[in-house]
Amino acid sequence: MTVEGIKPHGCKCGKDHLCDVSEVVTGNGAINLLPEKLRLLGGAKPFILADKNTFAACGEKVTEILKNEEIAYSSYVFPHGDVKPDEKAVGAAIMHFDTSCDIVVGVGSGVINDISKILANVSKSKYIIVATAPSMDGYASATSSVDRDGLKVSLQSRCADIIIGDTEILKNAPEKSLVSGLGDIIAKYISIAEWRISHLINGEYYCDDIAALIRKSVKLCVDNAEGLKNREDAAVEAVFNGLVYAGAAMSFANASRPASGNEHYFSHIWDMRALEFGCSSSTHGIQCAIGTLICAKLYEKLCTVEPNREKAVYAVNNFSLSEHWQDLRRFLGKGAETMIELEKKENKYSFENYGKRIDAIIKNFDGIKKIVAQEIPSGKTLEKLLDSVGCPKTPKEIGIDSSTVPETFAATKDIRDKYILSRLVFDLGLTDEFCEYIETII
Ligand SMILES: [Zn+2]
Ligand SMILES: [Zn+2]
Repeated sequence: MTVEGIKPHGCKCGKDHLCDVSEVVTGNGAINLLPEKLRLLGGAKPFILADKNTFAACGEKVTEILKNEEIAYSSYVFPHGDVKPDEKAVGAAIMHFDTSCDIVVGVGSGVINDISKILANVSKSKYIIVATAPSMDGYASATSSVDRDGLKVSLQSRCADIIIGDTEILKNAPEKSLVSGLGDIIAKYISIAEWRISHLINGEYYCDDIAALIRKSVKLCVDNAEGLKNREDAAVEAVFNGLVYAGAAMSFANASRPASGNEHYFSHIWDMRALEFGCSSSTHGIQCAIGTLICAKLYEKLCTVEPNREKAVYAVNNFSLSEHWQDLRRFLGKGAETMIELEKKENKYSFENYGKRIDAIIKNFDGIKKIVAQEIPSGKTLEKLLDSVGCPKTPKEIGIDSSTVPETFAATKDIRDKYILSRLVFDLGLTDEFCEYIETII
């Protein structure tokens, strides 16, 4: 079965929606189509990249299929299962690459996919990913999330030409990976709402067709979530397809807007603190799930607020950027420097830009509340959903010190050039109030 709806197409939003993935092959036994897909891409000799765990999960099967079809291949299998996406791992993949190969076949999920995409890019090879877990939405994207010089960065790499997601393999993924996939899916409740809010406040580009594509996949995943615990085909396929669509949606929008918002930035900050200070962290998707729940509760609070222009302007006027940078450096270490640099280009704290925003916020506050009501489920509904799949709900459950969460929220506004909840709260002069409120909800 091939996933429909990711073909490049023109759209009424005025953009041509492009995605480099030419085909997504899913369903039971999809892996058996690998030889056919290699031929389709003109790949004569594949280079297989896996780690110890993903090779056991499906790499052996891949090599068996290739041997049966008498297709020559080379491979590198990381000798352990917990590969970090850093210089050492990327270097090892490149140093083991067999230059007589003309196509990269990644066998794995997050990290293996990120490294394989870089390997395909630097070796100018076509790329097939054989997915082993529906755990994150990077299958259909052309960037790799890696640790470079001790910092988490998104590197431009190569999008998979063909994605193979065999349900038989995906449903045997570790439970944590399945739950993570759902976490990265429910994050889209927040990202779509924030995309619409920024469209309303800042006139940012927005496409309702892309949002509709995401909403449809999120609904399918949530409707089937109960089945995820029992690894039912429909539930696993819904999450996998939803993650592929999310990747395609980012490509369509040429931005991460449809798939990542404030909830993802909680996760990014936790990753940064883990890299810099060795703090606890969890998988991307589980962190996003926890971030989504916090954001949903904060949006509920936002809807009870009566915006007050005077109070907002007073708070913003009394905000000290230099003190804020000092706090950020203490809280994030060297990761803070990239964020400080970003502000030099962006100027979001300039009073002139702020003035325009606060007027738009006050004028459109009912519209913002309407978007929240339409897009984001209540905290209670999300808690029930997370309980039903056994997903952690609080930072504490993944080893994160609760007392750092308010500061995490305050720091999320500086991660990327993107208008999100923490910025809206800042603009309303309510950062301190929301930080205090966070202490009561986690
Ligand atoms: Zn569009
Ligand atoms: Zn994500």
